[in-house]
Amino acid sequence: MTYATLSGVGIHTGQPCTATLTALPPGSGIVFETAQGTIPARAENVVETLRCTVLGSGGARLSTVEHLLSACAGRGITDLKITVDGPELPILDGSAAGWAEVLPQSPLVLRELTEPVIVTGRGGAFIACYPAEHLTVTCAIAFEHALVGTQVARFAPPAPTSEGDYAREIAPARTFGFIEEVQKLLDAGLAKGGSLDNAVIVYPDRYEPALRFDNELARHKLLDLLGDLYLTGFLPKADIIAMKPSHRLNCQLASLLSRTDLE
Ligand SMILES: [Zn+2]
Repeated sequence: MTYATLSGVGIHTGQPCTATLTALPPGSGIVFETAQGTIPARAENVVETLRCTVLGSGGARLSTVEHLLSACAGRGITDLKITVDGPELPILDGSAAGWAEVLPQSPLVLRELTEPVIVTGRGGAFIACYPAEHLTVTCAIAFEHALVGTQVARFAPPAPTSEGDYAREIAPARTFGFIEEVQKLLDAGLAKGGSLDNAVIVYPDRYEPALRFDNELARHKLLDLLGDLYLTGFLPKADIIAMKPSHRLNCQLASLLSRTDLE
């Protein structure tokens, strides 16, 4: 059964791309079908984490998988084939809302965690995962920027509490960039598909376009974290505290969780 076909541009390549989402039988996992071959959405297939999460297997390579995987995590989808015709998934509006909208809601896939798992990065960045009865994710970002400063977002499923409602509270949070960095990327021939239709640009004194949530930036980092963590195929029953997470750190954690003894 095909859920939907979504088209758009890739934010990094600027190339048009189309993705078709099809249900798979239980136990199949999430797999990307590219013209160059199949790539299972597994932590072991992460090949790059610089500006987005890039998966590769054999000769196949696919960029910016994190928003769709986040929607799968938030919707409890475990078995899905994504057929893509380009090197990158469409960025849509820069959030996971477009993906979450076309996927049905199933119970979240949670697994017991037997021991704490912690990864650390530069500048005080870390993600700590402590075994718990339920999943709770607290994500904080901190920038030396008058407008952004420190922001915190939380996800504590299940719905209908607002903190548990992935589709309404997390999925719509868009990707963002600081104007100085965006300009550098554009000068370097990167972020070719970026526009005000698919990213929030942070200026010294304003956001363009206007924010959807006061803490939309922290919510988006939480969205990315869920997507990268879902490279394990599940979400841990854990209290997760993420401070200044990045794709690199998220994927390190996913890799460790894939190997950790889980019940
Ligand atoms: Zn993102």
